Amino acid sequence: MDKPSHLSIVLDLSPKQWHLAAQPGSPHPITLATFLSHLLAFLNAHIACKDENSLAIFGALPGKSILLYSSAAPVDDGDTEPADANTYRPFKLMDSIIMKSITREIDALGEPETEEPIGFVGALTKALCYINRVTTSNTTSGDRGVDPATLPDPRILIISVSPDQSSSYISVMNSIFSAQKLASFDLFYQKVTIDVCKIFGAESVFLQQAAHLTGGSYIDVDRPDALLQYLMMSFLAPPGLRQLITVPTQDKIDFRAACFCHKNIVDIAFICSVCLSIFCSPVPVCSTCRTKFPIKTLQRLNASRPNTTPGTPRPPTPANSLPRSTSIAPQSLPRSTSIVPQSLPRNASNGASTLR
Ligand SMILES: [Zn+2]
Ligand SMILES: [Zn+2]
Repeated sequence: MDKPSHLSIVLDLSPKQWHLAAQPGSPHPITLATFLSHLLAFLNAHIACKDENSLAIFGALPGKSILLYSSAAPVDDGDTEPADANTYRPFKLMDSIIMKSITREIDALGEPETEEPIGFVGALTKALCYINRVTTSNTTSGDRGVDPATLPDPRILIISVSPDQSSSYISVMNSIFSAQKLASFDLFYQKVTIDVCKIFGAESVFLQQAAHLTGGSYIDVDRPDALLQYLMMSFLAPPGLRQLITVPTQDKIDFRAACFCHKNIVDIAFICSVCLSIFCSPVPVCSTCRTKFPIKTLQRLNASRPNTTPGTPRPPTPANSLPRSTSIAPQSLPRSTSIVPQSLPRNASNGASTLR
């Protein structure tokens, strides 16, 4: 409980989505400026909780991702603000550095005709690398006497306004697995919690899974005018304290996966029995590992397919009544038919952990 807390924020700064979110016609309008004023108050609260607490902010912009702020970076003289008797100077400095870097990056975008997909995966992986650095830096010097209790307890908060990009399914899932397995001190196992705050747009299938698999919270903000309250009540407590403080979690999670062939989100998928790649229809040759499947198996699998179109929306299923692999119909697995068990590579069963 006495451990310092490190917070990495992945901030979705898609100008198009923020423009849509601010329209008076949208169900719960909120402007980027209002959002940032709430966010800065929350960040000040995080830093105020403990002297050793640290913070990093990664911006996901169209076509790129960038580190906007790091509490570990030395303060540049150019960023110093005139003294103000009514504000605490470190907070004022932090707010001004964050606002300046966001303004600089958004101004640098110009006014392109079409917006590129945002660099969300880049920002997420940078956040993971940053956490890896702050939680292991003390051990690289060979000093084995470091007390694990002094290393920060890391977590990521994703603030999202964009819809899922199904093309980034594999990278998002791999980032989730990295977050689950990131160790903070030699063999001292500790996963990185991923929280998600969805401010605008449709429910995100991938981010729901990210929060569920890492023990974080997924909050869909219904009342953006109360955003600060959502942030304080749901995301201020570090993961170590959440056994004592009940934070809201999602009661429904969409567990569907995206196929590797068309990047569609599918209800029923066909899985390569060797490498566990996901396909929306039975394929004669796995495009990932080149395993060939017998024609008879393909015919049988094709005949057993239900008449549903891939990507049909399906209501999410209650989280606790569901096994992890519901997106895949067990009877459609070609596991026993395609290859003889002896020919399976040794690590085939280990591979299961990478796609579950
Ligand atoms: Zn497909
Ligand atoms: Zn395969």
